[in-house]
Amino acid sequence: MIKKNYILPFFVFTLTFILLSFVQIKVARPMILAERFVKGAGWIEIFIVACYGAFVVFKMQDPGNVPKWRKISWTLFSIIFFSQLVIGLAGFDKFLMSGKLHLPIPMMILGGPIYRGQLSVMTILFLSTVVLTGPAWCSQLCYFGAFDNLASGGKTSKEILRYKGAIKTTILALVITMALVLRWFNVPLFTSTLIAAGFGITGISIMIIFSLKKKKMVHCVMYCPIGTIVNVFKNVNPFRMYIDQSCNLCMNCTKFCKYDALNTIDIKNSKPSITCTLCGDCLAGCHHNSIKYKFLKMKPENARKLYLILTISLHAACLAMARI
Ligand code: SF4
Ligand code: SF4
Repeated sequence: MIKKNYILPFFVFTLTFILLSFVQIKVARPMILAERFVKGAGWIEIFIVACYGAFVVFKMQDPGNVPKWRKISWTLFSIIFFSQLVIGLAGFDKFLMSGKLHLPIPMMILGGPIYRGQLSVMTILFLSTVVLTGPAWCSQLCYFGAFDNLASGGKTSKEILRYKGAIKTTILALVITMALVLRWFNVPLFTSTLIAAGFGITGISIMIIFSLKKKKMVHCVMYCPIGTIVNVFKNVNPFRMYIDQSCNLCMNCTKFCKYDALNTIDIKNSKPSITCTLCGDCLAGCHHNSIKYKFLKMKPENARKLYLILTISLHAACLAMARI
């Protein structure tokens, strides 16, 4: 338990407010939902969302609270995202981004632009989050991964996801190849959508069958091609995580990592493996305070605070904007 203060909530409130104000002022079509119904109401929504971000970081500044509040906030994010989609499909198009629908699965962030030959808003949003916060997309920003996080409830210290590097690389290559083939052969949109839907249904089945049983995020760690892209490109951002010399190899943290990034070999190497999303859950499992955030020359505790400010502000801002 650490003493909570109001500095982090202040920064998250301010940053979220600034980010959303920029969108409110600069984007012609209102992006903030309330603004679409009542002129000026967007500012009230921005205030509420900024307060929400401040509340979440207030709770998460204690590392022991991170697994619980990350789960709550990420699930809420996903519920709001999919609720808007359902209401939009029911005929209330103000709940949709632009009316140009696509399947709500992360693979479309990659497959869609390859098939169509042009970038989408979601792809640009995704790439921006990787630049700003490294792998936070896969710990608190993805509308789909929240379900894998829920499915993998419970804890296990077993090392279970063998050959994940080879499997995930193969799936990524297959997705890129398939999107190119569909494009080259001018396969109609309907057929391509059916193929993409099959990919999404397989992903959900993996969550239900494997993540539930293994208590790890099997879908995100082994199957999702966007997760693989995040694993590789997260290093464009300087945030890192390491294990210092106070670690006594008790292995308690392993149980807290749903991304299978803290197995014996990783701990002996003094850093999580490539599938780490910097989610911070493992800090709750380390009684020696041996797992630390790193950002350039900053002290570890300050690096963690900065990471929380950036990721939770982005999480709150995306909560107000992310829709299909
Ligand atoms: S691995 Fe895929 S589904 Fe999981 S959080 Fe990342 S993008 Fe989302
Ligand atoms: S090693 Fe820690 S920060 Fe990285 S994914 Fe696992 S629990 Fe999250």
